[in-house]
Amino acid sequence: MKHAAPFEVKGWCPGALKPMQSGDGLIVRVRPRCGRLSPDELIALAEAAQRFGNGHIDLTRRANLQIRGVSEETLPRLHAVIGRLGLLDSTSQGEAVRNLMISPLAGIDPTEVLDIRDIARKLARMLASEPTLWALPSKFGFIVDGGGRLTLANERADVRLAAVGNGAKIAVAIGLDAQAGTDWLGSVVPAIAASVAVETAHAFLELKPTGAGQRMRDLSADGLASIRLAMASRIDPLALDPRKTVGSLARRVGLLELGSSRFAVGIGAPFGRVETDQLAKLAGEMAACRVKEVRLSPWRILYAEVGSALAGNALLDAARSVGFITDPGDPLLRIEACPGAPACRSTRLDIRGDARRLAALLPRFGFEGTIHVSGCAKGCAKSAAADLVLVGLEDRYGIVRNGAAGDCPTSSASFAELAADPDTIFASAERRSR
Ligand code: SF4
Repeated sequence: MKHAAPFEVKGWCPGALKPMQSGDGLIVRVRPRCGRLSPDELIALAEAAQRFGNGHIDLTRRANLQIRGVSEETLPRLHAVIGRLGLLDSTSQGEAVRNLMISPLAGIDPTEVLDIRDIARKLARMLASEPTLWALPSKFGFIVDGGGRLTLANERADVRLAAVGNGAKIAVAIGLDAQAGTDWLGSVVPAIAASVAVETAHAFLELKPTGAGQRMRDLSADGLASIRLAMASRIDPLALDPRKTVGSLARRVGLLELGSSRFAVGIGAPFGRVETDQLAKLAGEMAACRVKEVRLSPWRILYAEVGSALAGNALLDAARSVGFITDPGDPLLRIEACPGAPACRSTRLDIRGDARRLAALLPRFGFEGTIHVSGCAKGCAKSAAADLVLVGLEDRYGIVRNGAAGDCPTSSASFAELAADPDTIFASAERRSR
C-alpha cells in the first residue's frame, strides 16, 4: 500500500547548466568525467563551493557531486570555475543525458575483467554530442561495469554494460533494466560496446516513451521485446553469465587490499554530505600522499589508490580526523538520510540530526539492518527498500518495516518518543536489504 502524503516529483536532475532550486538556494550538480577528479580539482571545487555556495557539498547516489546554496548572482562565477576544470558541457541537454556510472576501481583493480574506461569515455562523448539522444528521459542512465572487486551489479541503470569473460575471451554484456531485474540482450566485443549502448538507447526512443518520467523499467514485455528485436543483428548470444563476475570485496571503506601489492582506500561521507573545508583538507592530504585520482561511487564513498598500506592508513587517519567514515563497522554506513530541513522545504524535521542520533542508539540495540530516514514519502536518499524506514509526517515519523519511504507506515511517533523507547522500532524490524 502506498503512502498518502503528497510530495512534488520534479522528474529531472539538476546539472551545472540547469541548476535546481531548493530550500537553501540553487543546487549545481557537477558530473566528473568518468567519475574521477584529481585532488587539485577537488580542492578547486571545494573552494568554489565556499565562495559561491553555502559551503555544503553532496556526494550523490549517481556518483556525482552537488554544490548547494548557490545564488543567481554567484552562478556565473561558479560556472567559470567548473568550465576551467573542463567539466562544463556545451549544452544543458548534452549534460543531462551524460548520466553514466562506471566501476569506481576501474583500471586499478587487478581482478577486473576489463578496464572499461575507454568504453565509458566514448559513450559519454556520444551522449553529449548526439542531439537525437537528448530526447532521453532526464534520469535515463547507463552503467559501465568492468567487474572485479567493487562491481556495480546491485545498482540500477536503464542500460547496463558489464564486462564478462576471462583471458583472451572478453566481451561486454548489454542489459536492460526491467521490472524483474536486468534483461540481458547478449554481448558484443568491447570495441563496439559504446556504439551498441547508444543504438539501444535509440531503440528505446523509437518506442516513443510517453512522459519525461518514462524509463526502461516502465516498458511492457512487448516494449522490451521490440528493443531485443531491433538489436538482434548487432548483439551475439550472451558469452558468459554476467552474474558470475560479481565482486568480492566485503568492505567498502577503510584500507582495501586489491592484490598484486596494490592498495586503495575507501572514505565515506556520512549521508553523502561534506563541508568545503573538510573536503579541501582531505584532498590536500590526498595530494600529499601522491594520489592521482579520486574516484566517486554511488555509495557516497570516495576511493583513491595509494602506494602502500602505510600510506593508506595515514590517509585514513587524516580522513577520520576531519569527520569522514573510515571504519567498515560504522553504523552511519547503514543509514541513508535526505537533507531534510532547512535545506528542503518539504519537511520541517531535522532529518540528518535525527539520523545521527539514531546511529548512536544502534550499537546498544544490536540492530544490524539498513535504515532510511526520509523527510517525506518522496524518499530522495534511497529508492530501494530498507529494513527500517522513518518517514516524516508533519512533526512525527511514520514507521515502515522492510519497505520504502513511499510505503504506508504501520505506526508513527515523534523522534523524542522513539528515542525514549527505541526497542519498539528496532525489536521487530527485520533485516532484509543489507
Ligand atoms: S525526501 Fe527529503 S529531500 Fe526529498 S523532498 Fe522529501 S524532505 Fe525533501
